[in-house]
Amino acid sequence: MNLKTFILLSTIFVSANAFDFIKYSLGRISQTDPCDDFYRHACPLGEYGHLVSEAYDSLFKEVIYKQKDSSWENLEILKVLEEVHVSVFDEDMNEIIVNSFEEMCQRNAPEKANFLLRVQQVLTKSLDTTCSQYTCLLPLAKDENCTQVSEILRRRLSHRGFEPPSMFIESLKWEIEKYLKNIRAVNIILDMNLQKGVKKLNSFTEEMIAVLSDWVKKTPWANNHGVEGTIEQIANEIHLEDNFPVQLAKNIEPLFKMEKMFLKCSREFSKQEDLLCLAYVAEFNELQSTPHAIFSEFSAMYRHPSTRVSSHLYAIATNAEAEAGTLGMAGLIAGHEIAHGVIEDPKRLQLFPVFSNEAIECVQNQYNKTCREFVEEICETDEYQIDENGADMLGLQLAYQLFENTYGDKKGFEYIKIHNRSITYQQLFFYGAAFANCDGRKSVGLGTHSASNVRTNVIANHPAFKEAFQCASDSRMMSTVEKQCLVYGEKAPQTRKKFHQKNI
Ligand SMILES: [Zn+2]
Repeated sequence: MNLKTFILLSTIFVSANAFDFIKYSLGRISQTDPCDDFYRHACPLGEYGHLVSEAYDSLFKEVIYKQKDSSWENLEILKVLEEVHVSVFDEDMNEIIVNSFEEMCQRNAPEKANFLLRVQQVLTKSLDTTCSQYTCLLPLAKDENCTQVSEILRRRLSHRGFEPPSMFIESLKWEIEKYLKNIRAVNIILDMNLQKGVKKLNSFTEEMIAVLSDWVKKTPWANNHGVEGTIEQIANEIHLEDNFPVQLAKNIEPLFKMEKMFLKCSREFSKQEDLLCLAYVAEFNELQSTPHAIFSEFSAMYRHPSTRVSSHLYAIATNAEAEAGTLGMAGLIAGHEIAHGVIEDPKRLQLFPVFSNEAIECVQNQYNKTCREFVEEICETDEYQIDENGADMLGLQLAYQLFENTYGDKKGFEYIKIHNRSITYQQLFFYGAAFANCDGRKSVGLGTHSASNVRTNVIANHPAFKEAFQCASDSRMMSTVEKQCLVYGEKAPQTRKKFHQKNI
């Protein structure tokens, strides 16, 4: 099935709400040996981009389209912003203001005082009438010599004037779009009934934090330095941000306040003064720095104490038939975000007084080896990737522990037969991990994140991978592994305190 057919079918699946992304992705795995290059076995090179995004973008667009009549999708200010002709962007805003005022003055329009007040407020960045010297414009309303008073206004604006229209138009558009994306993302969860996935991600998060707390307590290097309590406390503060009704309100309210502000300003003038009103709204709206709980793009993040994931993961967790795949994919991502809270670069400590050098060296060493063995386009292992690489590895260990807890002796049972290949639940877990980063294009590292194929193939570091696929020790996947990198748990490194003897 090609992607277009898939997208078409996906649209039908929305109403049935039964699209199992993991099962669909299993149907695309290649016949190659999983122990040779697991990433390309699970995600063959081909004409597709990031598989999760491509699969869900069309589904989500459909849901968003159904909301087209909602009030937040029909804001007057957004219509006006989109209608501003690009030729206006670089015009001199001060000249636009002077010309509008002169025209108002010529016809002795009663709103000219209001016009000057709005201009003054933008210049003084204050909503009252406070002003000083050049910024005191209100008295100019009484002057009836329009040419003369316009010239005075021009001179005043030359001292402290407006920025070009492009500045406030672009920033308003960007801010409004950001808010709309958050609103749409919450509505995707509500309209597609993804609450089951939200509940699942929530319980994964809680269970992983309990596992992590237990591991931290038993970690030799943390015990040796007496920091296990601090780390455990930070881990226990982490939670999944899922209060969607509150998030919806937090995004809708400032948007509507801004719309009201724009409409009030526009109605003060008999002729259109859109640019002044847009500049005014850009100065005084309350859009900045509103938190968001969810993303419409495939993404996840950690900002202490909360973790956030995109609607894609809730959809995957809601509709996946087998928990093993959900744990490998959504569980791994949720674990990665939790892990961000407890992974530190020993050379750049932020939250903890100390961190194990050996643990981080092991992780970086694994990424280095995997990178060298599987490089496609570009891959590198650098110090600035420590946080992400460490979070990947600990996230995988946490998610796998949940898998063990859930499946126990049943992990080797067959889940499905595909291309005559019997796929066990344990294998499904690792396929899920690969599908999180599936991309048909050659892998390249993206800044702090390692290349997708490297992020996936480091899973060989977990002994369960070898067990799941019965990989030979001299296979390519296993040839990259020296030892399992454990940051936390009783088998994590000792990293003892260094005692420096002073020369007396
Ligand atoms: Zn991350």
